[in-house]
Amino acid sequence: MERITTRAAMQAHAMQARCAGRTLALVPTMGALHEGHLSLVKLARAQADHVTVSIFVNPTQFGPNEDFDQYPRTLEPDLEALRNTGGVDAVFMPQPNEMYPEVPSTWVRVDHLDAYLCGQKRPGHFLGVTTIVTKLFIACRPDRAVFGLKDAQQFLILRRMTRELGFGIQLVGAPIVREPDGLALSSRNRYLSPAHREQAVVLSRAVREARARMDAGEQRTGVLIEAMRHHLAQAPDARVQYVEVVDTEQLRPLGRLQEGQNALAAMAVFFGETRLIDNTFRWHPAA
Ligand code: AMP
Repeated sequence: MERITTRAAMQAHAMQARCAGRTLALVPTMGALHEGHLSLVKLARAQADHVTVSIFVNPTQFGPNEDFDQYPRTLEPDLEALRNTGGVDAVFMPQPNEMYPEVPSTWVRVDHLDAYLCGQKRPGHFLGVTTIVTKLFIACRPDRAVFGLKDAQQFLILRRMTRELGFGIQLVGAPIVREPDGLALSSRNRYLSPAHREQAVVLSRAVREARARMDAGEQRTGVLIEAMRHHLAQAPDARVQYVEVVDTEQLRPLGRLQEGQNALAAMAVFFGETRLIDNTFRWHPAA
């Protein structure tokens, strides 16, 4: 497993693998790895001959009042976990000044899709995400890139970006990995107090109920949202930021689900300072 810190070295490494006829998969992460990330690595391994994992805490996707400085950085255990998978060929782990050598004036923006859900609550977040993912694509030259559906809006925005810019990279959406009680794994779960950790199970109960009701044919999104909010209300310390049901192309809130329409039910909830997200799709955006 090779550790690579510069874009030029990463490109050279990727080109060498490509010239040897290998297909490449990229798994972008911000480190603080858990089983969710490792499931992405496994999926990448199954779909390509060569797997690159990037570890980069991207400053441009954090707002001024967000947790960039506090974001967990656990490089050595991360590298150990990746080595133990036996399936990673290269780890791309640049420093911030490698990815942003100058104050950036070049951005990749996907219009409109960030107007709802997390994008509405975190202005500029997805601009940072689309820009860094573009830079990672250019450095790592993958055929496929694996992203978790835990970050559903991110996946849908990146899918749109990849399609429109013609990167020729196939995006693969990986299912959400959960704790035994249902809580979606997240690098931020470690910040939950024991009491909040216990209460946080309400998110997964809410998405499970939304999923069951959609499967049973419920079309009224008001009813779905009410059912999800009912679960969230069982946690006394939960501060709900949003609960929405949106379409999967424009990400606009839907009044009513049409027959066969793709939809995403998603939520963000604070426990103290810790913000958790969860979601379920009415269809599986596999690739
Ligand atoms: P992050 O390091 O939080 O930026 O996440 C890196 C990638 O891992 C993203 O594509 C996430 O969607 C994905 N991911 C994070 N948590 C999970 C999870 N519980 N299950 C599946 N994928 C996840």
